[in-house]
Amino acid sequence: MALNLEAMGKPIGPVSKDYTWKDVVLYALGVGSGSSELEYCYEKQLKVLPSFSIAAIFDFLAHIGVTSNVNLAGILHGEQRLIFHHPIPTEGTLTTQGKITHYYDKGAEKGALVVAESNTYHSNGQKLFTSIMTIFSRLDGGFGGDNAPKEAVVFPDRAPDFMVDAHPSENQPLIYRLSGDIFDLHVNPDFAKMAGFEKPIMHGLCTHGYACRALIQSLVPGASEKVRRMDCRFTKTLYPGVPIQTLIWKTGEGKAVWRTLNARTGAVVMDNGVFEYGDVPEESIRFDDRVAVITGAGAGLGRVYALELARRGAKVVVNDLGSARDGSGQGSSAPADQVVREIQALGGEAVANYDNVATPEGGRAIIQSALDAFGTVDILINNAGILRDKSILKMEPENWQAVMDVHLNGAYHVSRPAFEVMKEKGYGRILMTTSAAGLYGNFGQTNYAAAKMGLVGLMNTLKLEGEKYNIKVNTIAPLAASRLTEDVTPPELFQKMKPEFVAPLALYLCSEQCSVSGSIYNAGMGFFNRAAVVTGPGLTLGNAKTFPTLEDIVANIEAISTLEGGKEYRQLNDQVGDACSALLTPQKAIAPKSAQKEVVGEFETASAVFEAMPTAFKPDAASGVNVVFQYIISGANGGDWSCAIRNQSCAVASGRHDKPTCTLKIADGDFLDMMNGKLNPMQAYTSGKLKIEGDIMKSQLIEKLFEMKK
Ligand code: NAD
Repeated sequence: MALNLEAMGKPIGPVSKDYTWKDVVLYALGVGSGSSELEYCYEKQLKVLPSFSIAAIFDFLAHIGVTSNVNLAGILHGEQRLIFHHPIPTEGTLTTQGKITHYYDKGAEKGALVVAESNTYHSNGQKLFTSIMTIFSRLDGGFGGDNAPKEAVVFPDRAPDFMVDAHPSENQPLIYRLSGDIFDLHVNPDFAKMAGFEKPIMHGLCTHGYACRALIQSLVPGASEKVRRMDCRFTKTLYPGVPIQTLIWKTGEGKAVWRTLNARTGAVVMDNGVFEYGDVPEESIRFDDRVAVITGAGAGLGRVYALELARRGAKVVVNDLGSARDGSGQGSSAPADQVVREIQALGGEAVANYDNVATPEGGRAIIQSALDAFGTVDILINNAGILRDKSILKMEPENWQAVMDVHLNGAYHVSRPAFEVMKEKGYGRILMTTSAAGLYGNFGQTNYAAAKMGLVGLMNTLKLEGEKYNIKVNTIAPLAASRLTEDVTPPELFQKMKPEFVAPLALYLCSEQCSVSGSIYNAGMGFFNRAAVVTGPGLTLGNAKTFPTLEDIVANIEAISTLEGGKEYRQLNDQVGDACSALLTPQKAIAPKSAQKEVVGEFETASAVFEAMPTAFKPDAASGVNVVFQYIISGANGGDWSCAIRNQSCAVASGRHDKPTCTLKIADGDFLDMMNGKLNPMQAYTSGKLKIEGDIMKSQLIEKLFEMKK
């Protein structure tokens, strides 16, 4: 019989188990609780010991043994990690699903390790805990796999802060087995002898329950709901009736390390213990059941995005080619693997991907990893990056191209297949990574700046194409300590630029709560602001028939250049629309010096304007026009006037017309500014100073029909 290596990564479960308060109490009694801890034993004030979790999913653990095809005659529980997301309710149904994540080979003589990870949900919908367990199979080594990476727990070189003694009874396994593990080794003397023991042994997980109680009593007395994590390695067997001692060292806020000894011999029976405790973090924004792909997530910013998304429930594809800072080299699987391990240690789900974003095949393979592992893609962060900085004359085409390929082409290669999935499901979040070097310029980074600004263009269009499918596309310009910034940042500043300061904004832009699309944000050291392409109000020179001259431009360069009163366009058509309407309502341009005529006087009252109106009327421009403009001008210098245009003639009357085509309402001062060329009619309208009711389009004829001057 050999290990079933094919089973790796395939889903195991869901396996469900109903439980009541009696199961909870039975377990507590099985791990030594009693009248001094009534909260675990009395249904009227019941709490669930966190270690109940692992006993309660015994059926699932059995599935791992069967699916991996380990030789049952030689297996031991090697290691156990538990991450607690919410306290376990006192009754309900637990549903567990997971997979085998690794097979490690210690050698033919030494055995194999099978690592399995699972998540358990309560029937109330809450994710309760994540288990990462290692089965040590003494008889399955030598299949030719890698050995497990060594992860040592460091114990302080001082006496423990707590030492908790306990005395499991001779009958302890007989009670404990009623919680599910009815293996003969713990009850049948003949079987135990056959397995090489002098008598039945304690269940490792029973001793684990004792240790859990000791840790709670010492670190969070009476508050078992504050247990966040409990890890250990099972190192030696123990006979029932042998006293034990749990040694605990506090190592930081909410953190401790621990080990449990056979108090008679001093032998360590559980080692490498890690314990974390504190309140359940209040996180209203979650990514449960969302699948996130992050390119270049093996280090720097991408790694932190991946960890933070996983911490909040997302399933993550950690892509990283593992190349050098400039993109050279063969690549390595180590960075992506390491981040996946970190996510799993948090109780999250992740898979590694080592494809290159710089090719279309790489882009497709990255998205395919997400589909294979998790069935979909909801979030894509285009983050992979390299640098090849050189000033323009030293910038050889290959350095230009390499940077374009990773940053700009890379985002295209990965976004395209991701967009297809997102469009189909009607949901998606894509985040581009630009840079201040692109937005504002940086000496010696022509390739990088151009690629990074190209990503803004990609976003601008993708936001429109994704709009109808609820795909939001935004861009972040981060500032963070990483290998890209290490040699160009003073050490004191580098220390302050932790990627964790950037991640919250990236996560917001990837969340369901994100309300924006097509926005660019700077983020670094906790400072956030938005960057945008702003367009000034400008003015039209010449008209549709006469071309403006170079001299016109020179004379008006200030008005052309100003950003005062500027705005952001959502898309190209908005800008074209403004250019067209400016043609209909031309703003007052300054004539070139050579063409300047005498200075005209100004209107001082509204009535003076209406007196001048018949003279200003241009009958040639009024062919076929039949409109009535009603002016309602508020203020001391105001009043009501109508102006009826019909049969190429103009009739101005004070008072109100009974059937105006459109009504223009404005304060007297603003009206005079408009008539005296100091206030652009379009600006007056968009700023709310001028209100137009009725047929707004017809109001645009006014500029065409009158040439107002005093
Ligand atoms: P980093 O070097 O730590 O991370 C980039 C990761 O991308 C690396 O792990 C690398 O192996 C991976 N990668 C490179 N080429 C790849 C490829 N072809 N396919 C897949 N993976 C590849 O750098 P970082 O600072 O975390 O940068 C992340 C992103 O942020 C980059 O796009 C960078 O340009 C951008 N950025 C960073 C800063 C900053 O201050 N750190 C500033 C502006 C923009």
